[in-house]
Amino acid sequence: MTTKNIIPLSTVDWYGRAATVVFLMGCPFRCTYCQNHALLEMGKLTSEPADVEAIKSEIAKNSLLISAVVFTGGEAFQQFDALRSLAEFACSQGLMVGVETNGYYTDRIRQAIEERLVDLICMDVKAPLEPNGAPYLKICGIDAAHRVSESLKLYKLCRENKIDFEVRTTVFPDITDSPQEIRSIASSIRELAGDVRYIIQQGIPEHAWKKAEVSGTSGTPYTRDELLTLARNATVILSDVRIRTKEFGEECVSASH
Ligand code: SF4
Repeated sequence: MTTKNIIPLSTVDWYGRAATVVFLMGCPFRCTYCQNHALLEMGKLTSEPADVEAIKSEIAKNSLLISAVVFTGGEAFQQFDALRSLAEFACSQGLMVGVETNGYYTDRIRQAIEERLVDLICMDVKAPLEPNGAPYLKICGIDAAHRVSESLKLYKLCRENKIDFEVRTTVFPDITDSPQEIRSIASSIRELAGDVRYIIQQGIPEHAWKKAEVSGTSGTPYTRDELLTLARNATVILSDVRIRTKEFGEECVSASH
């Protein structure tokens, strides 16, 4: 792991906070739209282990400018020992800790909550959580619906431990793009986790691993208005629905207008 896997200062990865972002390599998924495929060396079966001491010194160097560290990837929980050590270090520097996860490693996520290693968990639900696993298999190359469903149930434990929790779906034309799919995901979130914050993110086709499969006919991302229309399908099920676009950042979505 080198410093190319670290963004020293970001104001967009944790709403309202300046954060250092650390990319931990390795992921059990192979999402067609993965934006970090170059960094993750998607074609390889192994990934570079994190250089924990180098990352700690980078966090320490930035600590006067930031209030948080966000761990992402890859799948941040894949290198759990490194994540634990780094999260403890960030905490010792007086920094908040956020983790972005695809929800695959349910037991590790539970452990992180019980050990109070994190202040925020951002969990992806990438496709409808159908019991046959087909939508996950199509988008992520792995049937992870059951594991993600189990991970969503950890929201209760987060609430008991005063850990913030949000769920995200990244959407592209032709991938997770129908009102029915958004309603299905929102219903699963409501049923398994509860009325949690739900963010629908604008995916950028030109950064995708398999561009041709996620671009739709136009090859462009959803516009803000298209995203708002899609997101309103979730507002009848969840009370805090937001969209996130490159142009306008994070915005709340109301059920009408
Ligand atoms: S879960 Fe995230 S890092 Fe892993 S392949 Fe999918 S988009 Fe890429």
